[in-house]
Amino acid sequence: MRRFDLRSLRFHGAGEVRRTLPVEVAPFVFGGLEYHVPGDVVDATLTAARVGDNLTLTLLVETAVTGPCQRCLADADVPVTARGLEYVRHGESEGDDEDEGYVTAHVVDLEAWTRDLVADALPSKLLCREECRGLCPFCGADLNADPDHTHEEA
Ligand SMILES: [Zn+2]
Ligand SMILES: [Zn+2]
Repeated sequence: MRRFDLRSLRFHGAGEVRRTLPVEVAPFVFGGLEYHVPGDVVDATLTAARVGDNLTLTLLVETAVTGPCQRCLADADVPVTARGLEYVRHGESEGDDEDEGYVTAHVVDLEAWTRDLVADALPSKLLCREECRGLCPFCGADLNADPDHTHEEA
C-alpha cells in the first residue's frame, strides 16, 4: 500500500491503536547505484494516539537496504531502524511552512513518509562492512581479498 486513510482506524474507546502496514518503497539511487529494501516492501508499524480531536502518529520502520557496496561493489546489506512522529490536527499534518507533513485530508502518504525515514537513517556511505578496504584505484583488485596488494616496487 502507499496511502492509509486515518478514518478507517477504529479506536473502540481505546486511546491508541496500532497497525502493521506493508508499504511499497521504490528503489533508492545513490551515485548511480540502485538500492532496495527486501521485496521493495517495508512492514511499517503505525501507532495512532488520540488526544481530543487530534492524533499523534508514530511510524516505526525496521528493514534493511541492499545493493552494491560503495567501495568494493560486493553485496551490502545495511540494517535500518527509523521512527517518525507526526501531529495531526483536524485531519492535516501540523507542520510549519517548510515541513508540509505527510497527512492531508485524513490520508497518510505512507510511501513518502517511509521512504524519507529510510533515506534519513542510511549511513553516508553504504558499505559491505565498515572496514571495507575497497578496490585498488590502479587496477581494480579487491583489497579485501588481497590486503597486501601494492603497485610499489619492492
Ligand atoms: Zn565493500
Ligand atoms: Zn592494483
